[in-house]
Amino acid sequence: MAIRRRELHECRIKLYAAAREEMRNIGEKDRHEVGAALGDRLAEAGACEQRDRAEAAGVLGSREGQRPFEVDVPEFHADEVGPPSQGVEERRGRGGGPVDEHVHPAGDVRHDGIGRRGPGFPGLHGMPPASTIPGSTGKEPMPRSLVIILGDQLDRAGAAFDGFDRSRDRIWMAEVAEESTHVWTHKARIAVFLSAMRHFRDRLAAEGLEVDYTELAAAPQAGESATLAEALAASLRQLGKAGWNPERLVVVEPGEWRVQEMLRAAATAAGIPLEIRTDRHFFSSREDFAEHAAGRKQLRLEYFYRPLREKFGVLMDDGEPAGGQWNFDAENRGAFPKAGPGVLPAPVRFPPDAVTHGVMDLVNARFALHPGSLSEFDWPVTPTEARAALDDFLSHRLPLFGRYQDAIWTGEPWLYHSRLAQALNMKLLDPRDVIAGAERAWREGRVPLEAAEGFIRQVIGWREYVRGVYWHFMPGYLDRNALGADRPLPNLYWTGDTEMNCLRDAVGQTLKHGYAHHIQRLMVTGLFALLFGVEPRRVHEWYLAVYVDAVEWVELPNTLGMSQFADGGVMASKPYCATGAYIDRMSNACKGCRFDPKKATGPDACPFTTLYWDFLARHEKLLARNQRMTMQLKNLSRKAAADVREIRRQADELRGQMF
Ligand code: FAD
Ligand code: SF4
Repeated sequence: MAIRRRELHECRIKLYAAAREEMRNIGEKDRHEVGAALGDRLAEAGACEQRDRAEAAGVLGSREGQRPFEVDVPEFHADEVGPPSQGVEERRGRGGGPVDEHVHPAGDVRHDGIGRRGPGFPGLHGMPPASTIPGSTGKEPMPRSLVIILGDQLDRAGAAFDGFDRSRDRIWMAEVAEESTHVWTHKARIAVFLSAMRHFRDRLAAEGLEVDYTELAAAPQAGESATLAEALAASLRQLGKAGWNPERLVVVEPGEWRVQEMLRAAATAAGIPLEIRTDRHFFSSREDFAEHAAGRKQLRLEYFYRPLREKFGVLMDDGEPAGGQWNFDAENRGAFPKAGPGVLPAPVRFPPDAVTHGVMDLVNARFALHPGSLSEFDWPVTPTEARAALDDFLSHRLPLFGRYQDAIWTGEPWLYHSRLAQALNMKLLDPRDVIAGAERAWREGRVPLEAAEGFIRQVIGWREYVRGVYWHFMPGYLDRNALGADRPLPNLYWTGDTEMNCLRDAVGQTLKHGYAHHIQRLMVTGLFALLFGVEPRRVHEWYLAVYVDAVEWVELPNTLGMSQFADGGVMASKPYCATGAYIDRMSNACKGCRFDPKKATGPDACPFTTLYWDFLARHEKLLARNQRMTMQLKNLSRKAAADVREIRRQADELRGQMF
C-alpha cells in the first residue's frame, strides 16, 4: 500500500513538474492565455490524484491512527555556549526527546469529500471518483464547485484549479478581520497578505474567471462577517438566493489547523461536502511524513533530508551527493570580522503600487493600533516580483549565504539572507524554482557548493520537515509546555524598548520590517523568552503576529519546538540555551551594550547570562535526563552554591523589573 501511494504521489509530482516547466518556458506574461492548455496537463495530474483518492477511499479510510514513536536522546558534548553551530543536526532543531502521545491520523485527513466518511455529508463522502464507478464512462461532469482560495494559497497552478470549469465553477476569496486580530498582527503582515490576495484576484479576473471576493473596509461595517466561516456561510446564502448552489467546496490544504477545522465546520453547517486537496507546492506530503515517522525511534532532519534529495535528484551526481558529502554545515558558521561585513548587497525592493497603497491606507486606518509600521514596506506581492526577488538573491547574496548564515550585525537586517520565506509561504514562489536556481548557480560556478547546499537544506530540508512535524503532531502540539513556563511576554517584545542592545536591534527591525533572520529569531528573541520562562503559547502568538512570513505550519514548530523546547524534544534534541557570550561571538551587539556578556551578577551583568544559569538551575533535574546537556550542567555544578543563589536572586529581580 505504501509503495502504491508513493507511486501515485510521484506520478502527480512528475506531471506537475512538467506543467511547471512548460509554464516557465512560455514566460510570465503569456501564462494567462495558455492557462487552458496547461489545464490539460494539470488535469492529467488531477486524474492521478483522483486515483490516489480512490485508493484512499478504498483502503486508507479504515486507517485511523498510527503508532506513537519513541525517541532516544542522542549523545552530545557541548560547551556552555553551544547552540546553533554544532553540526547540521544540532543547528536548527531535529527529532529527539520523549514519546509523543498524540499522533495525528494523517493518512486520511485530507480528502474530506472523498477519502473519508465524515459526519452528515451526502454525496461525495466516501465516494470514489466517477471513473471507478461501475457503468461510469468517467466523462460525467464534475460536481459544481466553489473553489476556496486562502491568503497563503496564491498559486494559479495549484491543485485548487485542477479540473476547474469556468462555465460551472466559481472562485471564492475573502478578507476577514479575524485573520488579522486572532493574534495582534503586525501591520506589514496584514498588508502583505491583503495586497497579494488582491493582486491574485485581479490576475484571475484578467483571465475572465469569476471570483467572489470580499474586501475589508477601512472601518468595521454593519453586518460584516468576522470570521472566514461566517463569510463563507454568508456567500453561500447569497449565491443560493441567486440560484447558484455548489455541489462541493474545494480547498487546498490550509496552512493552519484552526482554518482547516473552521472550513470543515462551515461545510458541515452548510451541508456541502468539502474536498481538501493535497498541496503540491511541497515536495513531501503529510502522508509522506507520517510514513517517515512511523516506527522511528527518533525524528531527525538528516534522515528526512537525504532521501528527499535522492528522490528529487537535488545536488546529486551519479546517485551520490554532490561534492561527496551530504552537508557542509561545518563551513556555514562564520561570524563577521571585527570591522564588520563591509558593503552588503542591498536586496531588490518592490515599492508599493496602487493596489498595495490602497491596502496600506486600509491597514493604517483599521489596524492603527497594531504593532509595526508600513513605512518600509517593500515585499513582493505577485509571482513576477517574487521571481525577481529570487533572481536578486541568487545573483547577489547566495554566494556568501552559507558562510554568514549564523552571523548577526546590528543595523543590518538582511545580511546574506534570501528574504524569500514570505513569497514561498504565500505560494508566490515555487520551492522547485528556488532550489533549481541555487543548484544551477553552483553548477555554473557562480557560488560555492557549501552556499548552495546550505541554502537548499533550509528549503527542501527544514521547510518540509517542520511542516511534517506540524501536521503530524497537531492539534495537541499547540498546548505543549514541557518546561512548565508560565510568564507573560515582556512588553519590550512589542516596543523594542530595552537597554539590551541585541534585543533592541532584533525587535526594532522586526517592528520596522516584519523580518528578522533565523539566528535573531532563535538566539536573540527566542533565547530570551526561553530563559525568561515565558509561556510558550504567548511566545508563539508573538512570532505568528510579527513576521511577514508567518504561517502557523512553519512558525509553530520553529517557535514552540526549536526555540522554546516546549515539545520536550521533538524538534530539538536539547534546548537552544546559551549565555550572552554566544551573542557576543556571533555579533557586534555586545560592543555597544551597557551590559557585560561575561557577567552573571552585578549591575552590569548581561541578562542573558544571568538567566542562562538560572535556567539551568531551575530545570536541573529535568535537563539531567538529557545526555546532551551533560557538559552545561557540569559547568553549573562547578559554581559555588552562594553564587548560584545570587544568580537566582538577580534573575528573580530581573523578571520583576520587566513588569
Ligand atoms: P533564509 O535564511 O534566506 O533561508 C532560506 C529559506 O529557507 C527561508 O526562506 C525558508 O523558506 C527556509 N528556512 C530556513 N530555515 C527554516 C526553518 N527553520 N524552518 C522552515 N523553513 C526554513 N520561517 C517561516 O517561514 N515562517 C515563520 O513564521 C518562521 N518563524 C520562525 C520562528 C522562530 C522562533 C524561528 C527560530 C524560526 C522561524 N522560521 C520561520 C524559520 C526561519 O527563521 C525563517 O524561515 C527565515 O528567517 C526567513 O528569512 P529568509 O527568507 O531570509 O530565510
Ligand atoms: Fe545582548 Fe548581553 Fe550582549 Fe547586551 S551584553 S548585547 S544584553 S548579549
